[in-house]
Amino acid sequence: MIETEQVIRCGHCKKPIIQKSKQRPRLYCNDVCRQLDYRRRRRERTQAELLHTVKVRWGGYLPATQQLLNEIMQGHGEPLAVRVAATIASEVAADLPTKGAALEEQLKQDLEERLEELYRTDTERHHFKKWLQQHPQPNDVDFAKRFLADSRFQPYQSRSWHIARLTDRQGYTDEDRAVFVELWKDMLFEGRF
Ligand SMILES: [Zn+2]
Repeated sequence: MIETEQVIRCGHCKKPIIQKSKQRPRLYCNDVCRQLDYRRRRRERTQAELLHTVKVRWGGYLPATQQLLNEIMQGHGEPLAVRVAATIASEVAADLPTKGAALEEQLKQDLEERLEELYRTDTERHHFKKWLQQHPQPNDVDFAKRFLADSRFQPYQSRSWHIARLTDRQGYTDEDRAVFVELWKDMLFEGRF
């Protein structure tokens, strides 16, 4: 019998991953993809919360509608007012999935743009090491471990100060630098939205 070979695609970029060993299957191309996927999942939770708030707000009738329903009730009796209210409710409900999806996409883009802007304009010093210690990263991303153990990095410094020291000579790779950028963005993003 021929063993079926399962193609595993990267959890972030969806490219097929060549499995090198027979041990544990690799789920991401590299640590950058792993880190980006981790952030996406976390951000999706934030988006879901925002969306929920908006939907709840839509659920209630606007004051003008309430007033109209009141007038209908006084002029034409309660049964008609109830019917009108129910019709409006089903109209809104039918429209929600469309509006919801568009809103979700908009929120996603807005958050992404705000994050990029935040990152681009950030020149401040931050307690990055402390932040990293308090926010355990996925186990397999070993950049965080190496970085925290590296005493050459001061606890309170700017992004450019860090990047200037994450050199090949200091033992850091392109992938490490990319992971650092994503972590720094996570730190900036956190608690802002
Ligand atoms: Zn990937």
